[in-house]
Amino acid sequence: MRTRVTRSFAFEAAHELPWHPGKCKRLHGHNYRFEVTVEGPLDERGVVIDFDDLKRMVETEVVDRYDHRYLNDFFDNPTAELLAQDVWKRLEAAGLRVARLRLWETSDSSVELLADR
Ligand SMILES: [Zn+2]
Repeated sequence: MRTRVTRSFAFEAAHELPWHPGKCKRLHGHNYRFEVTVEGPLDERGVVIDFDDLKRMVETEVVDRYDHRYLNDFFDNPTAELLAQDVWKRLEAAGLRVARLRLWETSDSSVELLADR
């Protein structure tokens, strides 16, 4: 069987989407929320990853980087999709075996990324 663990995170950031025909063209902010799911075998402790280690890694790689920042300083086009892909790449580069990532830009709009494997 496959075992996955998930932890939830949040940060607040501003952005603007220059190509957008509507109000998203204007400077505004979001309370971003995201879930990181990690898959893998259980280690000798009986866990995929310690939830505290997962928290620390994600906060270091993502939350500390983007919280209370202007996302256009990091992205030419900070859509939720491109932000989610960036988060995924950062976490994989940090050594996490990410199986799923879900990022909410608003309470009713989210992006989901799934591992190909
Ligand atoms: Zn927006």
